[in-house]
Amino acid sequence: MALRTIREMGDPVLEKKAKVIKEVTPRIRTLAEDMLETMYETGGVGLAAPQVGILKRIVVIDVTEEQNEPLTMINPEIIEQDGEQTGYEGCLSVPGKVGEVTRPNRVVVRYNDLDMNEWELEAEEFLARAVCHELDHLDGHLYVEKVNGELRDASELQAVEDEEAEAGAGEEAGEASDAAEEKEQTQE
Ligand SMILES: [Zn+2]
Repeated sequence: MALRTIREMGDPVLEKKAKVIKEVTPRIRTLAEDMLETMYETGGVGLAAPQVGILKRIVVIDVTEEQNEPLTMINPEIIEQDGEQTGYEGCLSVPGKVGEVTRPNRVVVRYNDLDMNEWELEAEEFLARAVCHELDHLDGHLYVEKVNGELRDASELQAVEDEEAEAGAGEEAGEASDAAEEKEQTQE
């Protein structure tokens, strides 16, 4: 396995549509392994192939704190979605920034594994957010296009949330601290 270089916003490869994978070659397997290693190494919870400069439809995701539930999805497609959630996201391709994005609260994603078996995964909340974020990469979209308001510096987010927690009471304060917790995990 090897670490891959992460492409950053402004690199044209991040704006292109990735191609469907018809066959899992040894090269694709290596890519999947390298993507997982790169994601774990950089503290991300998801990574899409265009982020390492490869225009193929493959993403890796692991939203667990223990980093022990890697998901590798080939040709993933959202076939159902409902509800709504709003929260902060970051992206390994947009270092140091975060922004508030509204996403479906629940999605069902159909994908192939590395043996080209077909699976359907029902994802809610944070995992649903990660799936939506990564699949956007495959179509050349970054979360920054969907941000409510402005992008913020990740380091400023904590201060903003502290203020919001003070201003709000009860439930709202709880929400703000949930968001703060999530902040650590939303580099995708
Ligand atoms: Zn991303």
